[in-house]
Amino acid sequence: MTTRLYTHPIFLDHLTPPGHPERPDRLRAIERVLDEEAFAGLDRIQAPEGDEATILYAHPADFVARVRAAIPDEGIARIDADTTASPKSWQAAITAIGAANAAVDDVFSGRADNVFVAARPPGHHAEKTTAMGFCLFNTAAIAARYAQKKHGVERVAIVDWDVHHGNGTQDIFWDDPSVLYCSTHQMPLYPGTGAKNETGAGNIVNAPLAPQTGSEVFRDAFLSRVLPALDNFAPDLIIISAGFDAHHRDPLAEINLTEDDFDWATGQLMQRAARHSGNRLVSLLEGGYDLQGLAFSVAAHVGRLMKG
Ligand SMILES: [Zn+2]
Repeated sequence: MTTRLYTHPIFLDHLTPPGHPERPDRLRAIERVLDEEAFAGLDRIQAPEGDEATILYAHPADFVARVRAAIPDEGIARIDADTTASPKSWQAAITAIGAANAAVDDVFSGRADNVFVAARPPGHHAEKTTAMGFCLFNTAAIAARYAQKKHGVERVAIVDWDVHHGNGTQDIFWDDPSVLYCSTHQMPLYPGTGAKNETGAGNIVNAPLAPQTGSEVFRDAFLSRVLPALDNFAPDLIIISAGFDAHHRDPLAEINLTEDDFDWATGQLMQRAARHSGNRLVSLLEGGYDLQGLAFSVAAHVGRLMKG
């Protein structure tokens, strides 16, 4: 497998208030672990700046203008109770989009079999017209539509194993059966959406997990709901909204996964990508707030992407 890694120093310049869990140290922890010898074979690329026009694939222009207007010249501006922007946040968000779209190009051109994008801010809570939950724009949604528009594919699947439900991704694709959205997440938990009966146009598959459950319940949800939905849908591309906050060390949730579960889930999705999608798999960092849990989980995930 050729596995590409996109990151960029600008992702460290999206600043959040002191004590905020979604902080630059998250990426530093990931960079440190991926510097280890085991990852010498990664094809490391600096993320390109994104094309702002591609934001419109998932968000209307007046919303984009509103986010741009909220970026402060100095200090940190609040967008909602837990979503903030600093002077470099626009460039960071645009570069995260640029990396995700470039990753899509890479898997369709054959430059890589799969790609991990280590970027921030995350994206899966951003709805069509609402920035929330640490997210400004929905990077995964934009990348899915980018694949359809630039590479002419019909079906894209987004699998979201972040411990929080990706309400934004669900909102954007609610009535769009060309994109399958599958999510495992703790329920009840922020943002409150993600019940099993939220099915959109038949393209939304939610697998809520009760607090204090772990590996067995997570793997069962994957085997009984997520993987059969992928096999039915036969996507041309699989995008992972890869949050690692279902790790047992994470302070924001009560699901008890270990890095082995992320290794396993990655392997399962690689099997489906091999079966349906010509191996094409693009993984985008979402949450994960315990630095050690995050680093170990990313190492397991990326290690599996490289090994096949
Ligand atoms: Zn999360």
